[in-house]
Amino acid sequence: MAAQSDATPDAGAAVERPRVLILGGGFGGLGAARELKDAAVDVTVVDRHDYHTFQPLLYQVATDLLETTACGHPLRDLFHDQPNATVHEATVTSVDLDNREVTFAEMPPLGYDYLVVALGAGVNFFGVDGAADHALPMYTLPDAVRLRDQVLQRWTEADRDPSLIDDGVLNVVVVGGGPTGIETAGALAELYRSNFAEDYPSIPQDKARIILVEAGPALLSMFAPSIRSYTKKALEKRGVEVMLGEVVSSIEPTRVTLKSGTVLDAHTLVWGAGLQASPLGAGLGVGLERGNRVPTEPDLSLTARPEVFVVGDIAWTTDTGSGDVLPQLGSVALQAGKQAGHNVARLAEGKDTEPFEYHDKGTMATIGRYVAVVQTAGGRTFKGKSASLAWGAVHLALLSTGEDRAKAVVDWAWAGFTHERAGRISVRTDTD
Ligand SMILES: Cc1cc2nc3c(=O)[nH]c(=O)nc-3n(C[C@H](O)[C@H](O)[C@H](O)COP(=O)(O)OP(=O)(O)OC[C@H]3O[C@@H](n4cnc5c(N)ncnc54)[C@H](O)[C@@H]3O)c2cc1C
Repeated sequence: MAAQSDATPDAGAAVERPRVLILGGGFGGLGAARELKDAAVDVTVVDRHDYHTFQPLLYQVATDLLETTACGHPLRDLFHDQPNATVHEATVTSVDLDNREVTFAEMPPLGYDYLVVALGAGVNFFGVDGAADHALPMYTLPDAVRLRDQVLQRWTEADRDPSLIDDGVLNVVVVGGGPTGIETAGALAELYRSNFAEDYPSIPQDKARIILVEAGPALLSMFAPSIRSYTKKALEKRGVEVMLGEVVSSIEPTRVTLKSGTVLDAHTLVWGAGLQASPLGAGLGVGLERGNRVPTEPDLSLTARPEVFVVGDIAWTTDTGSGDVLPQLGSVALQAGKQAGHNVARLAEGKDTEPFEYHDKGTMATIGRYVAVVQTAGGRTFKGKSASLAWGAVHLALLSTGEDRAKAVVDWAWAGFTHERAGRISVRTDTD
């Protein structure tokens, strides 16, 4: 990929360093920004939050295992050692590729010489009736806190008025048999069957159901059959009811109706069933792929825009080796972000860009305490404790600082030994 002359600042501006604008402070954006630490460029990272979200651990915040600070790290803190980087908290509203300018809801527009778009993805309710109003998604830190608070509130309501229990006040329906649904259902089951069983001894456990609903014929469809059946059994052992081949057709505040006609009494529904890329991808002037993802060139640039790179969940990137489309995973986003940063640095030096090669560390999901499943790129599978350790190692590597890694290890070890979940308190700001 040749360096394009219009991708570098003109000679008259030689004293000015190229401006690199990075949209999104997730795995992709951070990977790109960090890679530019020693480059002769000025980097600006903009995110609508003032923190980086570590999505793989959201379910642990939602089930009181980790504090919010284990899942959200202050973005500014991550750049204290990077003098060429600036952080702004603002919401991107549009990208003008022709004028090389990005607009924001809360501050004046910013121009750029190079742009990295790493705006991620959000929930897709697939138009299910009532989902937008009553389902709780699991994609952001506020989502995780909302679920945690709702579950605590429902148990308090049941404690005050036990007649609500038969109406399903404690029941939770989790939609989606992929990693997000599995992890959430497994963690909720452990919270219910250990901590809440002790906190609320008068409430019978069989009156607090956790039901996992999956439209396909198996859980974790991307894994080998042995992993799929192991996962189902492991969840059922923890008291999760697994319903396969069932599709949610409508959601009301206290009822969930399936296409088969079954009605589930449940006052909480967690949505882990689908993603769609950031709507801002639609403004990038190329035809979008499935899930509104933006197709990229092998070097992660946008077609006909060599100064623009698109990475992470918003991107539709094909693996150079296998020809497969890369999944929406933290490790893909982080590695792609680093490659985009590397390519920006090369362009700024007048060099050609290089194609992205993904190093697959395997696909994995946690079912419960010391129980996980892993499938490597070569198709080898691991289950149970060894898989749990592999999950821990891969996810510690994704955490943004040594301090975050140390905190996570202490929290996991403490919870592992004691079953303790310190987050089981409701702090309301609308009361004393
Ligand atoms: C519940 C859950 C569990 C997961 N578990 C795993 C796992 O175990 N392992 C794994 O590898 N991956 C996992 N993933 C996937 C992984 O988290 C994503 O693939 C990864 O976060 C994608 O990185 P990204 O940088 O593309 O997007 P994100 O990390 O989502 O970052 C996008 C950033 O853009 C910001 N943003 C969005 N819109 C705007 C706007 N308009 N203006 C300003 N800022 C904006 C957001 O605030 C966010 O900080 C999980 C995802 C979820 C939801």
